[in-house]
Amino acid sequence: MPKQLIKYNVSELSSEFDDDYVCQICFDTYYKKEVYQCKEGHCSCKECWEKSLEKKKECMQCKTKVNSLNELSRARQVERLLLKTCVCCPYLFKNITRVDESEKLIEDSSGCNEIIKLEELDNHIENCSFRFVECEYHEKGCNDKIRHNEKEIHISKCEYQPLNCKYCSNVFLLKTIGKHYLKCPSMLIYCKECNEKIKREEMGNHVDKQCQEAIISCTLSDFGCNDKIKRKILENHLEQTNHTKHLSTAIEHLMIKNNQLSINIKELTKDKENLNIKNYQLSNNICNFEEKYHILSKRINELSKGKEYKNKWIISNYSKINHIICGELISPSFGYTRDSFEIRFNRFHTNYYLREISIYLHSTAEQNDIEFSLTLLNKDPKKNFCRKYNEGFTSIWGWSNFICADEINKENGFVTEDDKVEFEFTLTYPKAMPLLSNYIPN
Ligand SMILES: [Zn+2]
Ligand SMILES: [Zn+2]
Ligand SMILES: [Zn+2]
Ligand SMILES: [Zn+2]
Ligand SMILES: [Zn+2]
Ligand SMILES: [Zn+2]
Ligand SMILES: [Zn+2]
Repeated sequence: MPKQLIKYNVSELSSEFDDDYVCQICFDTYYKKEVYQCKEGHCSCKECWEKSLEKKKECMQCKTKVNSLNELSRARQVERLLLKTCVCCPYLFKNITRVDESEKLIEDSSGCNEIIKLEELDNHIENCSFRFVECEYHEKGCNDKIRHNEKEIHISKCEYQPLNCKYCSNVFLLKTIGKHYLKCPSMLIYCKECNEKIKREEMGNHVDKQCQEAIISCTLSDFGCNDKIKRKILENHLEQTNHTKHLSTAIEHLMIKNNQLSINIKELTKDKENLNIKNYQLSNNICNFEEKYHILSKRINELSKGKEYKNKWIISNYSKINHIICGELISPSFGYTRDSFEIRFNRFHTNYYLREISIYLHSTAEQNDIEFSLTLLNKDPKKNFCRKYNEGFTSIWGWSNFICADEINKENGFVTEDDKVEFEFTLTYPKAMPLLSNYIPN
């Protein structure tokens, strides 16, 4: 137990302290204090002298002039004699763990009866076999303060000790295991009908399906036999009772059921066949559609030759992108055929340090000989920033350093009041060339 919980004042441990051992200013015993005296031998503890000299430079008792503590002498004899005084052990009391010192100490007949010299008090307190300690199940919830020499006895019956359930071997506290036994699923309990011991969790099944003493309905109850019998005589009952009437009702019922089931099976088989046919037709349709789509895409490609595709790409919330050091933004796909192109806007592509913006046109379908031009729109159309790509076809079109990132801002007019950046772009498909054939006669 933490020592600070023992609250004692040495004056409570003996009635024999005479005034010589008590400071006349603070009325505390001098135990563990330094004592100083004036020339006339008037003693007080050091702290009290210091406080009183701050107010008045004199001895409180004889009024002799004292300028500072240096003019006093240490009363070592008083300190020494005090340590020879005998006191009782604090563990004589049952409530020495009190929180409030104004609570009166109560002697305990099973407490420590030793009388000790003050100089040995600390040592004795530490080793006293009557000292208070915490129960070793404190963390499990036991708050009892027990005497060191009673620890074994307490622990053997402490209700916070862990115990294994005899049946399911889960761990419980002594104080809760009783409650657990009332519902432990593995515990063996008696069957009310046959008196056999059965696991609690299996009891329902036992009574419903196995217990020979349980009262059950006759197997033919659905067909008119209303007899209730013990399970163990069911066989007997079936043999000895005349069930002819019930059996013929049962057969009738079963025939009707059987007929219904046959009809159901027939209907289901038919449905399945229909579904197979539909499935086949649908697959055919899909094939046809794919073929048509292919032809149409080719047509569109042919038709778009020599034509221009013009559009705008608008990026909202531009200032949020501007804070990302390295990032890529990809436009929605566009073009005459579905998903033909996309534009990629990059913050770092080739020259990370210069904060260049790179812009590329990517083709997702096979495509070449496209002309690509891109204009970054400005509030003032005269300042529009326009670039045309004319370096021949690689696999992408565009610029690793389209413009410096810092130039795109509101002051320069490239970012709108509602934080948008707009590009206008044009793709020019190549002109169709005349088809040439050279016939070489034999
Ligand atoms: Zn004092
Ligand atoms: Zn004095
Ligand atoms: Zn003791
Ligand atoms: Zn305990
Ligand atoms: Zn259990
Ligand atoms: Zn039973
Ligand atoms: Zn029956």
